[in-house]
Amino acid sequence: MQQDIQVTIVGSSNVDITALMRRLPGPGETVLADSYQLSPGGKGANQALAAQLAGAATEFIGAVGRDSHAPIALAQLEEARVSTGRVARSEQPTGVAIIQVDAAAENSIAVVSGANATVDAEAVAAAGPLQGIVVLQGEIPASGITAAMDAAAGRVVLNLAPVIELDHAHLLAANPLVVNEHEAALILQQLDSSDEPTSDAEPAIAARLLEHGLASVVITLGAKGCLVAEQGAPIQQLPAVNVEAVDTTGAGDAFTGALAARLAQGDTLAQAADFAGRFAALTVQGHGAQSSYPRSLANL
Ligand code: ADP
Repeated sequence: MQQDIQVTIVGSSNVDITALMRRLPGPGETVLADSYQLSPGGKGANQALAAQLAGAATEFIGAVGRDSHAPIALAQLEEARVSTGRVARSEQPTGVAIIQVDAAAENSIAVVSGANATVDAEAVAAAGPLQGIVVLQGEIPASGITAAMDAAAGRVVLNLAPVIELDHAHLLAANPLVVNEHEAALILQQLDSSDEPTSDAEPAIAARLLEHGLASVVITLGAKGCLVAEQGAPIQQLPAVNVEAVDTTGAGDAFTGALAARLAQGDTLAQAADFAGRFAALTVQGHGAQSSYPRSLANL
């Protein structure tokens, strides 16, 4: 184990299999696609790459299969020197997202969790101590998330996407909870134990999440930037950088990884969110997720 890790990401890694076609097939139908590509993805792996590229020594902990997709899932992480020595090799296949995209950029996606579903409490315990800021998402089992929170020595950044059920004590231990506006509303509904989703606007949702006891919350708002909410301070809205977006895939992951990297380097939450917004804005100007992440911080 390296001693100087500043950010540890426990989460998912996938291979995205993307086929481009004129129109999506209906049930029972076969269409001929024009091309396809394999690219690394998964929220955990995306965030690990972003944290490393944003300047933090980063470790990724997760699981891949013993199949030909495993090296593809980890290739960009290894190239960027993210520490991957504790990624488990599972009997389950490497997670895949099977993505169909038509000429109007409409898509349909099937995700097979595969090895990611094995990143549970037992697997996290087997990995050992977690160093630095620990970052978690909703693409591994809830037991893996809560075990990683318990094992974290430092601050936990929780990007609960997709939103899954977590016990309230763990949910409230996030500092910050980083979610988009839809996820924020779903989490508030969980904490309220309500049958109805809230119709509140985002600043009110952020305020109500703090009332439940969260120390801090960041709500991302796409091209509108983000809200930063902390106990005892006014809620701040940080605008996004005005850029020509061509593909926002993985922008939220870039934001979360970069945010964690800057928190690890001593930024305040607002400073880290401002940097994360500028980092994410660079990524929406290129295609794909990991392939769009900036390899140099010269333009930031
Ligand atoms: P998610 O994909 O998880 O819903 P968002 O769409 O909210 O995440 O994007 C995350 C962050 O990426 C935003 O807070 C913003 O900083 C940046 N971002 C996303 N879309 C754009 C855009 N069109 N222009 C500039 N920045 C963007």
